Amino acid sequence: MKNIIICDDCQKEFSPTPSDFSAIEDGDLRVEFFICPHCRSKHLYFASDTKMRELVQKRRRIADMIRAGQTKGFKQKTLRQYIRMMDSVKAKQKEIYPALKVRGERLLEKHREVLKEDAGDTLT
Ligand SMILES: [Zn+2]
Repeated sequence: MKNIIICDDCQKEFSPTPSDFSAIEDGDLRVEFFICPHCRSKHLYFASDTKMRELVQKRRRIADMIRAGQTKGFKQKTLRQYIRMMDSVKAKQKEIYPALKVRGERLLEKHREVLKEDAGDTLT
């Protein structure tokens, strides 16, 4: 799967490769971001805390269960149960993500400031 992203800062298209990604952590908060190869600006990709990471894991497990259930021909009732479980995990993620994103953006902003200061130090 190839993701084409348009950079907010320079408006150029790119598809990030694993080496464009990086992460910063502050306590429980983890911010994954990617760096635009054109202008080097940083963009938030995913912000998570312990709770969110648990939900991500859970979602992966349920997706595996659904896949296994489909190939092994589980009962429709069982599959529907899995799908309901998946929906409830998705709903929880949706509920807690906005606040995480705000915290993530703040952390990323702080990180940008630090980098600027570092660059400033090397110039003086
Ligand atoms: Zn850019």
